Amino acid sequence: MLAAEIIAIGSELLAPDRTDTNSLWLTEKLNRIGIDVKLKTIVGDDDARLEELIKDAVKRSRVVITTGGLGPTEDDITRKVVARALGLRLLLDEKVLNEIRARFQSFGMTMPERNSRQAMVIDGAEILPNPNGTAPGLYLEHEGCSIALFPGPPREMNPMFENHVQSRLEKLAGDLRFARRVLRVAGMGESAVDEKIAPIYTRYENPQTTILFNSSEIEIHLRAHGRTEADAEALLDDLSLKIEEALGNSVFSFRGETMEEVVGRRLSITGFTVAVAESCTGGLIAQRLTNVPGSSKYFTEGVVTYSNESKTRLLGVDKELIREFGAVSQQVARDMARGVRHRAHTDFGLAVTGIAGPDGGTEDKPVGLVYIALADDAHTEHKRLMLPGDRELIRWRASQAALDMLRRRLI
Ligand code: AMP
Ligand code: MG
Repeated sequence: MLAAEIIAIGSELLAPDRTDTNSLWLTEKLNRIGIDVKLKTIVGDDDARLEELIKDAVKRSRVVITTGGLGPTEDDITRKVVARALGLRLLLDEKVLNEIRARFQSFGMTMPERNSRQAMVIDGAEILPNPNGTAPGLYLEHEGCSIALFPGPPREMNPMFENHVQSRLEKLAGDLRFARRVLRVAGMGESAVDEKIAPIYTRYENPQTTILFNSSEIEIHLRAHGRTEADAEALLDDLSLKIEEALGNSVFSFRGETMEEVVGRRLSITGFTVAVAESCTGGLIAQRLTNVPGSSKYFTEGVVTYSNESKTRLLGVDKELIREFGAVSQQVARDMARGVRHRAHTDFGLAVTGIAGPDGGTEDKPVGLVYIALADDAHTEHKRLMLPGDRELIRWRASQAALDMLRRRLI
């Protein structure tokens, strides 16, 4: 498989307020044509480091793509430094110079002298026209390495890659195609997931499996390559089926769908409706459910009952229960679920009560203690959770666990 590396050039990308998005975009494009990105680097506008990086890159990678540093200013060093690293000369290209000059004239301006640097071309490189800016890109083959230099702005770089570089790389990559898939797992820890599926996925080199933990769920990332996209997809089908067999219902998503999308689809298909009563999640469950377009079909209302009094007034939770067991208790969670279901006339009532912290915990009821409950017309179930994390994470995890409870009921 062809290995590529991407070098994002620009000191602004090392500051906290700018992100290198070009490499994400390029990786997607490269993967699609069967090229694997093995390394990405971000380097400031620094001659010495960039030179060293280019020298190493052309030695270890068959494809090297740089973005940024092709502008007309003093800090735009890519052309100059790449030429030096490869031991090639920089030549002024009269045709490019005239084009840049004409571009300025078309806006009724004279070309500033420093823009003439953008007409400097590495000896032997092809010029990649840039219809959206003054800086042309460059493409060259050097000692078995294909090198493409693009300007930094995405709206300039993207069409240049698609129109002038993609097809060349496609030829180079041959027939290989990639496919990827994200499976999401709820209600299991990272180690528990790995224990169950490592014996399966370690048998495969293709697809490649990565397990990631993502706030309240485990993600299993699968990546496969094959002669065609369909071949790669078939490999993914095979492995994801085996993973599903091992993990059962805990896998809630096969195409990267969110929990609320999955729950929403199940509710849509079955025609059931839900109302939500929330305390510590403060409306988060309702917000997540209503993030999904078309949710009005199955979601009728959400009530945030933060105080004890409101739990009684709005949901009809028995005052005595709150006095006896406290607002954070299985009894109150169950009464909230029944109460909201009854008042909203829905098929399901879903409720959460808990202590998100950082204050308010006691020895009996520590921060992270959360009860979730789900009521339908026949019965009510509940679950006691001890959730780790800070306030935000506890609230998120509580919302996830509640939605997962509903999902499992709908299976
Ligand atoms: P340049 O003059 O070619 O170095 O790039 C100029 C502008 O392009 C920067 O100010 C950024 O807004 C944008 N840019 C450069 N590199 C990147 C990158 N890797 N990802 C996203 N935007 C970028
Ligand atoms: Mg720059």
